[in-house]
Amino acid sequence: MLHECLSKEEFHDPVRLAEAIKRLPVTFRRPRPLDEAISTGGGVRFEAMNGQLMLGALPGVFCAGEMLDWEAPTGGYLLTACFATGRAAAEGVLQWLAAR
Ligand SMILES: Cc1cc2nc3c(=O)[nH]c(=O)nc-3n(C[C@H](O)[C@H](O)[C@H](O)COP(=O)(O)OP(=O)(O)OC[C@H]3O[C@@H](n4cnc5c(N)ncnc54)[C@H](O)[C@@H]3O)c2cc1C
Repeated sequence: MLHECLSKEEFHDPVRLAEAIKRLPVTFRRPRPLDEAISTGGGVRFEAMNGQLMLGALPGVFCAGEMLDWEAPTGGYLLTACFATGRAAAEGVLQWLAAR
């Protein structure tokens, strides 16, 4: 980002480079399109599912990952949460099928 914002001279001047690092302007104009969104709000509420992520209103239908209504700070843990809820839902599917 600094390369984009500074001239070559500014970039090689340690004082001006330090100033730029501390005051790098990042202007927010609008969100990126939904296709590029890392995480989106909304989804299936936890109250609508049992402990194995099966929908109370639709027995046999399980939810996981970004289907769930979670608010999480990004930083690399969304995939972990998706895998974990996927595993929990898969175990729920196996138990549900075994009980039938
Ligand atoms: C650019 C970007 C960078 C990211 N970086 C990170 C990162 O560094 N670390 C991290 O932890 N997370 C990251 N994430 C978030 C992470 O990738 C997602 O949270 C995660 O992949 C969601 O997994 P999911 O299985 O819930 O959904 P998805 O991966 O979206 O899977 C849903 C699947 O369902 C399919 N589908 C949709 N509708 C239908 C339908 N009607 N019938 C059949 N199939 C359907 C889709 O094609 C898709 O394959 C990033 C996301 C983006 C967009």
